[in-house]
Amino acid sequence: TPAITKTDVVIIGAGPAGLFAAFECSMLKMSCLLVDAQAHIGGQCSALYPEKPIFDIPAHPSISGEELVNALEKQIEPFSIPRLLGHKVEALTESHKTFYLTTHKNHVIETKAVIIAAGSGAFGPNRPPLKDIETFEQTGSVRYFIRNRKDFTGKHLVIAGGGDSALDWALTLKDEAASIALIHRRERFRAAPESLAQLERAVEEGKITKVVPYQLSALTGKNGQLETVEIVDLDGNKKQLAADYLLAFFGLSADLGPIAKWGLECTATHIPVTPSSCETTHPGIYAIGDVATYPGKIKLILQGFSEAAMAAHAIYPRVFPNTALHFEYSTSKGNPAKNTINA
Ligand code: FAD
Repeated sequence: TPAITKTDVVIIGAGPAGLFAAFECSMLKMSCLLVDAQAHIGGQCSALYPEKPIFDIPAHPSISGEELVNALEKQIEPFSIPRLLGHKVEALTESHKTFYLTTHKNHVIETKAVIIAAGSGAFGPNRPPLKDIETFEQTGSVRYFIRNRKDFTGKHLVIAGGGDSALDWALTLKDEAASIALIHRRERFRAAPESLAQLERAVEEGKITKVVPYQLSALTGKNGQLETVEIVDLDGNKKQLAADYLLAFFGLSADLGPIAKWGLECTATHIPVTPSSCETTHPGIYAIGDVATYPGKIKLILQGFSEAAMAAHAIYPRVFPNTALHFEYSTSKGNPAKNTINA
């Protein structure tokens, strides 16, 4: 039997819009559950640009993607909101004004309202189609994101990909790693001219070996610990490269996927909503952040925050049908961090 979680509001997507929606729901005393396909919160800010400064968050002249997500996480900390990470929501059914959502790991969520804060969909790295790659992913021998460059000190690396990410990481790790083989299926890399010049210098210094045009063809190792990466050229000639890690940068794919089939009159990437409530064409289902669209929509984080507040207020009467919602400022409610919210 599948695991079941019951909640007042399910929030699909723990990007900035979803995280702030969790805050708004909690301030209105509605229970909520944050679900994300990724293993970590923060959506695009954490996955795509943790170190880049953002300049248009109100009252923050400059804040990095990661700092913003940390601050949003701190803001909801007092509410101990449950999270279901690494779960992609796939199916949605409705019965007697209750929604049932099912994730790809067969977890069922029973809820009174749904907030879709799915950005441009569940995105993930494009993975090379290699046999048993999952085993090597589980041990971290194969990676698509790098959080701590110190993991690679003194290690033999194979870095695959022909764009800015592959090149930037090869250059960043060149003094850290014992060796770096940079694999690309074409002769030329598509990257910023300055990076290309730096690559040539690193190749001359013997810090990076360029292995082109080659593709990945197989991985070998024991218990998920990588030992060799096999590569093949266009004529079928194979080479074995000794490696502790394979770092693959083949871009990200985004996929609104299953949500696009829920009958919300959406396009492949966007869901139309009523701007005053963020309700979709289906009562009880709301959409906020990048995924939501209406005339005049601006796809900015600050817009997602405001939509989160509107959706939470619009949902309140569904969760508490017999209680009138008296609008209150947060200043009158007390500090959630000190648990002084009025009971
Ligand atoms: P996202 O951040 O996209 O998060 C959506 C989450 O939903 C993801 O984590 C995804 O895994 C999850 N999800 C999707 N489908 C499912 C599913 N079926 N099941 C479970 N989980 C699912 N904006 C600004 O305002 N200012 C800037 O300066 C700025 N700079 C940017 C720079 C870059 C390089 C990029 C890429 C974007 C930038 N943005 C900026 C845009 C900003 O990041 C987005 O507007 C914002 O992240 C949208 O937030 P969101 O919460 O709507 O969605």
